[in-house]
This record gives sequence, structure tokens and C-alpha cells, in this order.
Amino acid sequence: MRVLITGGAGFIGSHLTDRFLAEGHTVIVMDNLSTGSTDNIAHLAGHENFLFVKQDVTNYLYVKGPLDAVLHFASPASPVDYLRLPIQTLKVGALGTHKALGLALAKGARFLLASTSEVYGDPLVHPQTEDYWGNVNPVGMRGVYDEAKRFAEAMTMAYHRYHGVDTRIVRIFNTFGPRMRLEDGRAVPNFITQALKGEPLTVYGDGSQTRSLIYVDDEVEGIYRLLMSDVTDPVNIGNPREATILQLAELIRDLTGSTSQITYHPLPQDDPKIRQPDITHARAALNWEPKVPVEEGLARTIEDFRRRLGL
Ligand code: UDP
Repeated sequence: MRVLITGGAGFIGSHLTDRFLAEGHTVIVMDNLSTGSTDNIAHLAGHENFLFVKQDVTNYLYVKGPLDAVLHFASPASPVDYLRLPIQTLKVGALGTHKALGLALAKGARFLLASTSEVYGDPLVHPQTEDYWGNVNPVGMRGVYDEAKRFAEAMTMAYHRYHGVDTRIVRIFNTFGPRMRLEDGRAVPNFITQALKGEPLTVYGDGSQTRSLIYVDDEVEGIYRLLMSDVTDPVNIGNPREATILQLAELIRDLTGSTSQITYHPLPQDDPKIRQPDITHARAALNWEPKVPVEEGLARTIEDFRRRLGL
């Protein structure tokens, strides 16, 4: 296949790029590098099946030659980033999704949207099944990301129904692994960096809010299987193992052998209190489930952070 991955220089996008290349496909990465980095794809320079195009995907997209699939992964994804880039986040979810769908239609390519567990907002159904419509505050700080992704899902389904584009929607739950930006602002990179530097671990709120973390290799495997499947309704890809943020901070402190203190800071507005994917649909339709234990994934991530921090 010849595939275009928008946001392919980002964290998940670059791992996905590696996976497609390893399967023998050709990958064109398009990224404006606003939160992505050429560091994530530097090892692919000169690869005969790889091409990088620096471009903002909210503008008209031109790609020479045929395409079999368009995977739309471009977007700021850390709350810190989308609060810093609110309008760009709305634009890439709305205009960028429209452009990427238009390109898929023109090329007769399959389209896969990187959606998110954030479409469920601060959920009133637990664990979250795909048929839950969510609890999102459109005018809150997180609304710029949540509503952009909800609009992107609606746009994807409209192209599917009206234009007959062959579409897929993955709802990605909190993913971690090597290549996350050190300063990305999310819980895993913050805690690892703080623990390795011997600085206090910054828990927001009382740390009783939960997340369910999935290692990036498992996430990429689920996305790859979804693209290759014939499932056009949204699919949760996440690890159902749920933990509190305080437990996560303590686990990272133990795994790094750090003696850092844990400090408490105000909880950001609309921070979801609980989150856990119901993956019944992915198990049945894709024969997929996560394989990498969180401890093992964190150990690999800590090694990557140690190397990049020079510690
Ligand atoms: N969080 C925290 N300390 C940090 C960064 C994040 O306690 O230094 C909390 C955050 O408030 C949220 C959880 O960890 O409850 C996960 O946050 P993250 O930004 O990783 O992802 P998201 O909120 O998008 O799930």
C-alpha cells in the first residue's frame, strides 16, 4: 500500500509510520512540526519507501500519485498543547479532517481518523462503550480538543455516508511510550522527567482521578488491525487496566528508583474523573487486546527518557 500519515512526525504517528514501513508499505508523512519533531523520523531519512512533507494539513493538500490509505493523526494531543494552541487544534480537527477526507475521496483511498477517549468527556458511563455519547463541556478549556475530535468523527461519517468513502474511526485512550516529548506536559512524561531529575512529582488534584494507560506498540497494533478490517463504526483501542494518577506517580517513582516527593497542585478545569475503555468491540471485531504490561512499557519509556535527558 501507499499511505499518507498526517501527523506522522508525532508520537503515535511516527510509531505507526515505522509499523507500515516494516510491513513493506510506502509511507508519506505530512506534518507541520507544531508538536511533532523530525527527531521522531530522523532514522527513516534515506529509506526508499519513505517521504516527509512539511505541511500544515489545514491548507489544501496535494499529493502526487496514488494513495491506498489516508491516516489522519495530525493534532496537538496533550492538554498543555491544546490549551496553548486552541485555534490550531480546532482547525486541524475541522479543516484538517475535511482536507484529509477530500484527499481520500479524490484518490479512492481508505480513511482512518485518529479520534480519542476525550469524545466521552467526563464520562457518566463506566467503562466507556462506543455507543456512549459522552459528557463534554463545549465552552470549557478542553472543549477545543474534545469538540474538534467530535466534529472530525461527524465529518468522517458524513463522507462515509454521503460520498461512500471507506472510513475507520479509532478512539485512542491514554497512550505512552518512547518518543513522547519530554516537555509534553502529560502525566507520564512529567512524572518520569521529574523522578529522574529528583524533582517533586506534580499530582493534580488529590490524585484519585483515574486513567487507563496503553503502551504505544499495543495501540499501533490495534490501529493497524482496524485499518485492515471492514469495521466502519468507532472502535475503542485502549488498555482496560485502570489506575489512579497517584498510583501512577508512585509506580513511576518506584520504577525509576527515585526518592522524589509527591506534591499536590490544582486540578485543571473539566479534568475527567474516571476513564476506562470497554474493548469488547475491538476484541470481537479485530481479535485484538493489549499485550504489554504497564510496568514493562513504563520501563522501556523510562530508558528512552534517561537517554534523551542524558541521565
Ligand atoms: N496530571 C497530573 N500531573 C501532571 C500531569 C497530569 O496529576 O503533571 C493528571 C491530569 O490532571 C489528569 C491525568 O494526570 O488527571 C492525566 O493527564 P494527561 O495530561 O496525561 O492526559 P489526559 O488528561 O488527556 O487524560
